[in-house]
Amino acid sequence: MSAALHPKLLPIREFVIHQNPGEAEFHQAVHEVLQSLGPVVDRQPDYIEARVIEAICEPERQIIFRVPWVDDAGSVHINRGFRVEFNSALGPYKGGLRFHPSVYLGIIKFLGFEQIFKNSLTGMPIGGGKGGSDFDPKGRSDNEVMRFCQSFMTELYRHLGADRDVPAGDIGVGGREIGYLFGQYKRITNRYEAGVLTGKGISWGGALARTEATGYGVVFFTEEMLKKVGSGFDGKRVVVSGSGNVAIYAIEKAQSLGAKPIACSDSGGYIVDEAGIDLELLKDLKEVRRGRISEYAERRSSARFVSDGSIWDVPCDVALPCATQNELHEAHAVTLVKNGVMAVAEGANMPTTPAATDILRAANVLFAPGKASNAGGVATSALEMQQNASRDSWTFDYTEQRLQAIMEGIFHNVADTAEDYGLPGDYVAGANIAGFVKVADAMIALGIV
Ligand code: NAP
Repeated sequence: MSAALHPKLLPIREFVIHQNPGEAEFHQAVHEVLQSLGPVVDRQPDYIEARVIEAICEPERQIIFRVPWVDDAGSVHINRGFRVEFNSALGPYKGGLRFHPSVYLGIIKFLGFEQIFKNSLTGMPIGGGKGGSDFDPKGRSDNEVMRFCQSFMTELYRHLGADRDVPAGDIGVGGREIGYLFGQYKRITNRYEAGVLTGKGISWGGALARTEATGYGVVFFTEEMLKKVGSGFDGKRVVVSGSGNVAIYAIEKAQSLGAKPIACSDSGGYIVDEAGIDLELLKDLKEVRRGRISEYAERRSSARFVSDGSIWDVPCDVALPCATQNELHEAHAVTLVKNGVMAVAEGANMPTTPAATDILRAANVLFAPGKASNAGGVATSALEMQQNASRDSWTFDYTEQRLQAIMEGIFHNVADTAEDYGLPGDYVAGANIAGFVKVADAMIALGIV
């Protein structure tokens, strides 16, 4: 792990590693935040005295449960379910559910930890949490996914509530899964408690623009970073990893601002389309037919599919990692810098390794950490909760305007905080510090609980 920690923060990192053995991603996420907090504890030593940093690193509650279900052939499967209710100083726990075979407690804790600061940065009254399962929805029939979701919710429902804990989607959990989860919650509780889950369908309590929000938000944030150096998206070559929810809508918004997204990927490889990505084709492939990205190249002559190598080899002005954690390594960062990348903004959570982040920042590449740049999704989830609470529904345009204003607000908060601490342009430090201080102050105000 990269830079040295402030001496007062070192024991905290040791404590976290000792308390949470084998959870490498969680250790990485904690280290990355602690790296930014040196100037904060120098300025305000009472955060150390009140042990608020240790408290923030310890989830309020961790729930692990068995999820039994039966496949279409009649075989029984046993998966493991998780919900980590990390911090509720600012509001009810809020954060997505991830269904992916790589899920274990360390992944959920890293995501939940990041979520605390991200949710704080949105300015909305939401705490941090995350959940999921090692279930793999890929290749499963709708009925199998439904039975899994029903079994998962049969245990999870007792921990949820619009004022208690409000999950949403993440990798492997989209509109279909949220529908099955909400249906089971409604059946068990006999309550139409719309605010208990976000990412719902539009006809049953969902918010317009929630689907688009994370991807659009990444682009709004990046646009602010570019504006600050007198530039913009117009004419820029953009490379986006992933081809899921975040990636697709980042491509859509970048295109609408005049950029030329030319590459995207899935876990099987990447495509390069020098004519610019055909968004309609991509949406049909990924959102309707749930196909593989290789099929994009089969259907479009200007595109080629690459099954080995890295999408970060494709020269670009703006890189948006929107797939998964630790997907952009040191060697990729070196290549991006060599190819003249101007900005990297994280759509995924922690997609850039610490060593890669150091290389990009040392080369003066504008760098947006995910906890700031991908906060548009959860911010719009909070807008969905507002609409549910008031039994109202807003137009797409109004919600998108709110999202854009929130992303601009996050950018200015992050940039101003970085300047205030003598680190202008360091958006990693700005995001960590601004996110942390708000939560820490609330925790101190609420007493030792
Ligand atoms: P998604 O719809 O499930 O899409 C994930 C995409 O990433 C898929 O194209 C997937 O390809 C690809 N991918 C996953 N693992 C990969 C790997 N090891 N190598 C290459 N590609 C890989 O998920 P999503 O909602 O877009 O989420 C993407 C990231 O954004 C995650 O880090 C998530 O935590 C973060 N995020 C999401 C939201 C949101 O609102 N959805 C909000 C904030 C942050 P395959 O289909 O082949 O697996």
